[in-house]
Order: sequence, then structure tokens, then C-alpha cells
Amino acid sequence: MTDLDSVENAIMCRQLAVKSWSSNSWLIHTRKLLARYDLPAIHTLIELCPSKSCWRSQTITAVHRLWEKKIDTQISLYPSLKMLHQDTYRINHPHIILDSVSPSVLDVRRIATKLRLVTGTYGLQSNRPAFNQHNSTLCLLCCKEPETREHFLCHCPALQAVRLHCLQELHDTLSSYNLDTIYLTTETLLQFLLNCRPLIMDKVTSPVERSAIESQTRRYCFILHNERFTKLNNLRTARGLSRRPKMALDE
Ligand SMILES: [Zn+2]
Repeated sequence: MTDLDSVENAIMCRQLAVKSWSSNSWLIHTRKLLARYDLPAIHTLIELCPSKSCWRSQTITAVHRLWEKKIDTQISLYPSLKMLHQDTYRINHPHIILDSVSPSVLDVRRIATKLRLVTGTYGLQSNRPAFNQHNSTLCLLCCKEPETREHFLCHCPALQAVRLHCLQELHDTLSSYNLDTIYLTTETLLQFLLNCRPLIMDKVTSPVERSAIESQTRRYCFILHNERFTKLNNLRTARGLSRRPKMALDE
């Protein structure tokens, strides 16, 4: 309980009374934080000092509520996130594309690559002008088109041999579940590779089958990622530049 007659409380009340909203006072910063997270006003807290556990739970809920609302309202403004098909974001509830990931080292490496691709943070040439306007968006492997996610995963002729092999594996997996016609266009193939749930949700009810299909899409992305990395390193060697470290294969 707060001692309302204490000297500390008197100093605190005075500070709150005399300091303006633009002050750098710790108490003003606290008031702003409480208002931002829609928590009780500071005077209420002084009078009805909550227990530590109660306050902890109240603040965690308030922080989660604010960021969930912010992400839900802003996610549609980012085109690079449209493949996530995320209607409602809930903290501590992983996205569905993480549901089928096993704790094996290989699966963790594969999902890391896939998450970067699905969130638009994978280091493709099309992302580079955002960091340096002199960088070209042209694919370094084929020099024919801008290196977008679609070009990398679905079109780049330099990765065609590996891609055909991966597509055949994917086709075999889908055929075994009678889903071999599920992707017909480049747009749906890209959606399928990055987040297949919206396409298979009403066709595949078994969690085991969903997991097997998602695992195959992770494998596809990871194999192409490794092939791209190897080819880019070969290009660097041919130009007399140092190779990127092997660890990058695990990114
Ligand atoms: Zn290319």
C-alpha cells in the first residue's frame, strides 16, 4: 500500500502538478506511457497501488493489446506481407506456417529462409535500392529481369535445373494427396510456396498431410536458396572477389 502522507508521495504529487506535458520528468514520461497503453492514470495508481503480480499481468495485456491492434491495422499497408494472409495477429500465437516446423536443425534452417521470403526481408536484388539507390534490381544470375521473389522462386533460368527437380518433388507429394492441380499459375505457385494454407485449407483436413505439404514447400525454398548462394559465390570468385562465408548457407 502507498503511504499517502509520505514525503515521497508529496514530492510526486507536486511534480505531477507543476510539470508540463513536454517536461523530461520521469513522472511525465510515466504518464505518457500509461496513456499510450490505455492503463489507469497515475493518480489512480498512487491511491490504489496494485500488487506486483496484478500490475505485471495488467501491463503485459495492455502492451500486447496495443501492438496486436497496431499490426492488425497496418499489415495491409505492406505489400511484401500480403502472402502471410494474416487477418488477426495474436502475440504468443505463432503464424500457421510455423505449425508444422519440427525442432530439427534442418527444419529450423529451412523455416528461417522461408520466413524471410514470405515477409519480404530475404536479400534479393529487388530489395537493394531501398538501402542504396545505386544498386540495380537486375538478377545477378541471369541478368534478364529484376530479381523479385517471383523471379527467384518461379522464373530465373539460372536456377531452372534445380527448380524443375523441386517442382517434380512437389508435384509427387501433391499427387499422393490428389492435389496435383492445386497450382496452375505463377501467382498461385508463389502463394503456394510461401504460404500454402489458404490454398489447401479446405482441401486437406489432415494435419499430417498439411505438414507434409508445407515441409515440401520449405524444402523447395531452401534448395533454391542454397543454389542461388552457391552460384553467387561462384560469380564472386570469377570476378576475383572474396567468397561469402559458408555460414550464410545456414541463414
Ligand atoms: Zn535470374
